[in-house]
Amino acid sequence: MNFGIDCQLLKGLIITKIVIKIGTSTLAHPSGHLNIRHIEHLCKVISDLKNAGHEIIIVSSGAIGMGVGKLGLKGKPTDIETKQAAAAIGQCELMYTYDKLFNEYNHNIGQILITAPDVEDEKRRHNFENTLFRLLELDVIPIINENDTVSVEEIEIGDNDTLSAIVAVSVKADLLVLLSDIDGLYTADPHLDSNAQIISVVKEITPEIEKLGGGKGSSLGTGGMVTKIHAAKIATKAGTDMIITNGNNPEILYDIVDGKTIGTRFESR
Ligand code: GLU
Repeated sequence: MNFGIDCQLLKGLIITKIVIKIGTSTLAHPSGHLNIRHIEHLCKVISDLKNAGHEIIIVSSGAIGMGVGKLGLKGKPTDIETKQAAAAIGQCELMYTYDKLFNEYNHNIGQILITAPDVEDEKRRHNFENTLFRLLELDVIPIINENDTVSVEEIEIGDNDTLSAIVAVSVKADLLVLLSDIDGLYTADPHLDSNAQIISVVKEITPEIEKLGGGKGSSLGTGGMVTKIHAAKIATKAGTDMIITNGNNPEILYDIVDGKTIGTRFESR
């Protein structure tokens, strides 16, 4: 169903266009095997949000991680060819799983894989955006990832936090939600400092906020807090609020669309 208007009131409900970035740590166990409970629950909640009229675009990581799981590798490959091969295998598993689960709720999905030149070159970006908008018009859930199978350093976007912010800007999303294995941005590294407090709202990304971005992400993913703050800069500058929250409990997506304070919200200018 296409409502034709980005944000409107329908029976008291605000219809929003939301980009949801799902990190590898949410989709897969540390072994790289699928986290069935998380992915099933996520697809159910996202389907319900779509049924309620929200427009959803997914940016999904997990290709390399799932390839690692399927091949039984000991960890994330360090050489580019094995990384590309793992992504080729894992991306199939990922899309097969999404297709199967969203199908249960009568939703269609469409895959888009891109690298940096697809969004840096004006003509190519236009082509990418045309596909994205048409998928939304057709009531399909676009699922986007970097094209890791051909991606090398010179042409990579590099991490899906940044990619999801680029997508949010392209579709003029109302909200970008990063689902990760951390509850939000803390006043200090919560693994090292037991007094660390979650910061609920960031109104401006100051150098102090940027300094809180230290530390790295999960063993199979790419980003960490640094790439999330970078994504927040891109999104908020273009007028999209961004939330970092934990993907362990997909039900919080309901609270987020209800406007409740969850995780850390970076307010757009
Ligand atoms: N594109 C990578 C993958 O699907 C993930 C990148 C990231 O974790 O940010 O494995």
